[in-house]
Amino acid sequence: MGLCLSSSSLRGAGGRKPERLGDWAEMLQLQRLRRLAGANCLLRRHSATWRSSPKNASFAEVLQLEDKKLTGVVFPLQGLERYLAPGVNTASFRTFSPGLDDIHRAEALFKPSGRHVIDYFSSAVRMDHAPQLSQPEVCFVGRSNVGKSSLIKALFSLAPDVEVRVSKTPGHTKKMNFFKVGKYFTLVDMPGYGYRAPQDFADMVEAYLQERQNLKRTFLLVDSVVGFQKADHTAIEMLEEFGIPYVFVLTKIDKASKGLLVKNVLEIQDFAEKHTQGCFPQLFPVSSIEYSGIHLLRCFIAHVTGNLPMMNS
Ligand code: GDP
Repeated sequence: MGLCLSSSSLRGAGGRKPERLGDWAEMLQLQRLRRLAGANCLLRRHSATWRSSPKNASFAEVLQLEDKKLTGVVFPLQGLERYLAPGVNTASFRTFSPGLDDIHRAEALFKPSGRHVIDYFSSAVRMDHAPQLSQPEVCFVGRSNVGKSSLIKALFSLAPDVEVRVSKTPGHTKKMNFFKVGKYFTLVDMPGYGYRAPQDFADMVEAYLQERQNLKRTFLLVDSVVGFQKADHTAIEMLEEFGIPYVFVLTKIDKASKGLLVKNVLEIQDFAEKHTQGCFPQLFPVSSIEYSGIHLLRCFIAHVTGNLPMMNS
């Protein structure tokens, strides 16, 4: 039987004395999952994947962190709660609230093995060049320099052979890049919009969004330091007009001060609630450097592509 821990159990699992019988059970489960992860870490330390994975890229490693740090890395929105003014409504912070075990299971999709190949598949500059793939698909869109390549690289960090270009100069992504994650789903990296974007960006993205039958979710990236920009509103208008389900991802959260991060999180959540139809109410803050939010995002992708029936949501 799998372990199934609610995210709220993390907050009670520290040095604080559990208040209910259920809290005791959850705390014991967390301890057990940590022991298993600890043994796993020892084994993995001797493997090639472990050596080539950045710090905190693997969930087993994250489970070794102390409770407060663990909450911040796994559930960055909940980690921000202590910086909020009293009375701020945080209900949407837990719309997607998997257990640690769900997150652990989702990670398997992002780890290649002999029978599970994760790799770049092809690129296209026009829709009639796009590969015909039947798996569920997710796509990533955002302004140039928002951190899209870095995020995709972080998501695929357990598959170090997958080549994702990370640019030093903005606007390098001029094609749609398709990555196949075994037989489970396809991830599409769309060209960045805004500064030095290709002329035909709008045509390409518009056609993709309108035509792609198997598109399950669009991830719209917003820089946590600069917040919404004009170009982001153009993308939102497009998604809303076509009735495409999408979700905001707030990038580079390690760079923003806590005050700025809270301000941008609340502003974007408020916008999503009041002015959108197709947007998922919870946003996903991430850092591709510290791996905050990456594990939760992997779990969300596994879930929306139909590859992870939730045990604990
Ligand atoms: P893209 O144009 O959207 O693909 O953006 P890139 O992934 O190339 O990132 C643009 C710049 O932001 C690069 O200098 C990255 O190193 C930096 N960057 C990306 N993600 C993060 C992050 O999570 N934290 C920090 N501090 N920098 C980031």
